[in-house]
Amino acid sequence: MAAMLWDPLPGNQVRCRLCPHGCTIRKGQTGLCGVRSNLNGDMVSLVRDVVSSCQLDPVEKKPLYHYLPGSKTFSVGSAGCNFRCRFCQNCQISQMSGDGIVPGKRIAPDKLWQLALQHKARSVAFTYNEPTVFFELVHEAAAQAKAHGLGVILVSNGFMSDACLYALQRRVDAVNIDLKSFRDDFYREFCGGRLQPVLDTLKTVKALGWWLEVTTLVIPGCNDSPAELQEIAHFICTELGPDTPWHVTAFHGAYKMVDHPPTPLPKLEEAWRIGREAGLHHVYIGNLPSLLGSSTLCPNCHGVVMDRQGWQVKRRGTPGQCPACKTQLAGVWR
Ligand code: SF4
Repeated sequence: MAAMLWDPLPGNQVRCRLCPHGCTIRKGQTGLCGVRSNLNGDMVSLVRDVVSSCQLDPVEKKPLYHYLPGSKTFSVGSAGCNFRCRFCQNCQISQMSGDGIVPGKRIAPDKLWQLALQHKARSVAFTYNEPTVFFELVHEAAAQAKAHGLGVILVSNGFMSDACLYALQRRVDAVNIDLKSFRDDFYREFCGGRLQPVLDTLKTVKALGWWLEVTTLVIPGCNDSPAELQEIAHFICTELGPDTPWHVTAFHGAYKMVDHPPTPLPKLEEAWRIGREAGLHHVYIGNLPSLLGSSTLCPNCHGVVMDRQGWQVKRRGTPGQCPACKTQLAGVWR
């Protein structure tokens, strides 16, 4: 299927403009993500209508805690990724073998909104693997979803070009972006990426007006020093705003780090405190139960606005409003 956002080059080569890798691809080859290919001098997507998994999820599972809380989202994944994270939890669909075979079944992008409505979802989420690399599916399915009254969510590593972001400008409502570390060497060594483009994406997303939440998977001994967590929290607070929710989540062994120890709860609670001390209003602990990091607190009077148990949400009073002092919290509540 014809791909978007690429340029022809001399000698039947093509250059992809979707992500900061900017792959130059020779005839018959694929880009680093394994799902964008040069077919006789034209770029094609191998996954424009390939869905590896789709299911109904609580929107909190993305995680998004300030976007239509308590609602269901129809989650859709395809195949491929522009990162090589050694700790990937979805490596069966994200890491391509390079043989051009992609896992999944064919579903036309303009059918996804129907499935979402049949399942009584409020939104469609492009997730499980990196949505940047199945851009054409997202681009088409998102337009259809919005035309039929559904919200559109991306769960992304943030390694996207401006061209990709602006092409989706009117088709996306909310995003959760990983900020995996504040060190470029971590991005290079553990992910096969770079830090600065992710920081740039976060700032662009803020400027685009999409609802934004940020996630950091805290991996013992790799990205969990207080100094690094402070840098992440400071960046979010000063560049993205203190109302931007930050999710600090527990690592469990996966892919090439299957034997690495899991994140202990006290480390996540330390990250929670670091986020709050940096000035963030909403810091959440994920992947482990914790009383400290599960409730939404009012930034004015510090009372509880929403309780959570697992993915269950208990609101108190008007959505997004503190029941005690009536402060309106940042987010998309209905
Ligand atoms: S989306 Fe894929 S082909 Fe395009 S630049 Fe990124 S890794 Fe390369």
